Amino acid sequence: MKVTFLGTGTSQGVPVIACDCAVCISANQYDKRLRVSVLVEMQGKTIIIDTGPDFRYQMLQAGVKKLDAILYTHEHKDHVAGLDDVRAFNYVQGSAVDIYAHKRVQEALKKEFHYVFSGSNYPGIPRLKLNTIQDGLPFQAAGIDVIPISVMHFQLPVLGFRMGDFTYITDANLITEAEKLKIKGSDILVINALQKEKHVSHFTLEEALELAAEIGAKKTYLTHISHRLGTHDEVSEQLPEGVFLAYDGLELEL
Ligand SMILES: [Zn+2]
Ligand SMILES: [Zn+2]
Ligand SMILES: [Zn+2]
Repeated sequence: MKVTFLGTGTSQGVPVIACDCAVCISANQYDKRLRVSVLVEMQGKTIIIDTGPDFRYQMLQAGVKKLDAILYTHEHKDHVAGLDDVRAFNYVQGSAVDIYAHKRVQEALKKEFHYVFSGSNYPGIPRLKLNTIQDGLPFQAAGIDVIPISVMHFQLPVLGFRMGDFTYITDANLITEAEKLKIKGSDILVINALQKEKHVSHFTLEEALELAAEIGAKKTYLTHISHRLGTHDEVSEQLPEGVFLAYDGLELEL
């Protein structure tokens, strides 16, 4: 199994438009963060989690030539805005792309991309096959076993996903004990760590580190990072053993 981080930034990305802070003007490539998404390649299948506004560029950067499934964590714009560019895979593969999402997220996609779901066969619209993720029920995406993990993002339930020993959780500020049990035993855990200051819907760095210690994965990678967290190098130096800041383009082999 190979995991590639396509984006590791919060909703505005890093650098932020018109910001001159130390992180946004950093020349370090690790301080350039597109909106969050990961590419999972296993058993000959290619799965992407979320299609944010940078989806097209991320597909080009990572050289993705085929796409078997898209999993959605939730409907916020920084996780869905790039969906229209899925068309490229329709043309190459000659088939609809399988989407796996909670019913609530599907309803949001139907509003956001109404022309895709209007029933017209207008040439050039994305062709998608919607598959419903049922609350708490494991499912298969492109034949790959996936365990959905329900986490809270302020008042919005968001899905994390576990595939084998890899668990990916983006936007969250609360995980119940019951859901933590589904994560335990993961070799690699990805969780969000927005900034150092308290936030209403995301873990802070300190909260993410507490969770990392509690889950005890062999390695924990932090993502959905704001320019307010600090530079990649400065924050990385402060992290305990086994915890790392993810960065765009980071590849992990499991
Ligand atoms: Zn987000
Ligand atoms: Zn900034
Ligand atoms: Zn969100």
